[in-house]
Amino acid sequence: VSIVSTSAVLLRSFNYGETSRVLRLYTRDFGLVSVMAKGIRRRGARGRAAFGTFSRGEITFYRKSTRELQTFKEFAVEDGGRSFGRDVTRFAGASVLAEIVLAHAGPDRNTELFTRLTAGLHRIESKESPDVVNVVLSEGWMLVGVLGYEPQLDDCVRCGLSLEGCGIGRFDYTAGGICCSDCGVDVTGPRIGPLAREQLGALLHGVELENIDRRRAHLRLLHDFSQYHLSGSKPLRSFAFLASLTENDGDGQSEG
Ligand SMILES: [Zn+2]
Repeated sequence: VSIVSTSAVLLRSFNYGETSRVLRLYTRDFGLVSVMAKGIRRRGARGRAAFGTFSRGEITFYRKSTRELQTFKEFAVEDGGRSFGRDVTRFAGASVLAEIVLAHAGPDRNTELFTRLTAGLHRIESKESPDVVNVVLSEGWMLVGVLGYEPQLDDCVRCGLSLEGCGIGRFDYTAGGICCSDCGVDVTGPRIGPLAREQLGALLHGVELENIDRRRAHLRLLHDFSQYHLSGSKPLRSFAFLASLTENDGDGQSEG
C-alpha cells in the first residue's frame, strides 16, 4: 500500500453504513478511482460535508493496485462545485458528462480524458440554463471521442463515399457513424440530414452552437450512441433528467 495524491473530480458518492461514504472520482494519474471514506459523516469529522458532487481538488488515498476500493485519506477541495448545486440544469448536464466517464473509464491514467472532463465541467459552470444543453452535447461527443468512439461523419461508414450532398442519411450505431441513403435502407438508426450532420461535426470539434434544432433528439442520439458503445447497453439515466429540463423544440427523429 502506498499513499498517493492526484488531481481529481468527484463524480458520484453514496453513503455506506452509519458514518461512511464511498466516493467515485476521476483522477489525473489513476483514472477512475473508488475510495471508502470511513467515518466521514461523523459529526466533526475532517472534511465532513465540505465537498459536493463535481468538487475538484487534490485527493490523497492509500492505494493498492490489486484492490478496487481504495482507502480515503483526504480531499483538499479547490472548487466545491457550488455552482452546480445552485442550478439544476447545470447539475443535470454535469451528471451526463460524469455518467459517460463512469460508464467506460477504467483505472488507467488518461490525462486527455481528465483534461476534457474538467474543461467540460468548467464550460457548463459558465452557462445559464438554455445554453447548458448545447455545451453538454459538445462536451459529451468530445468525451465519446476521447474514449475512442468518435463517430464517422464525413464519409459513409459502410461504402466510404463522401456524404457531401448525399441528402438524408442514417445514423448507424453498430458501424459507428453515418451511412448514406443507399446504404441506409436497412439501418434502423435515426435519419440524419445535412444540417444535423454539420451540427454534429461542429459539436465534436467543440464549436459552441447558439441554436441547435431538436436538442432533445440530439441528446437522444448521444445517449443511444453512448449506450451502444460505452455502457454495455445499460441506459444512462442522467440523459432523461437533462432532457426533462430541456424545452420541447420540435422533438423528432427525422428532418426534412
Ligand atoms: Zn454508403
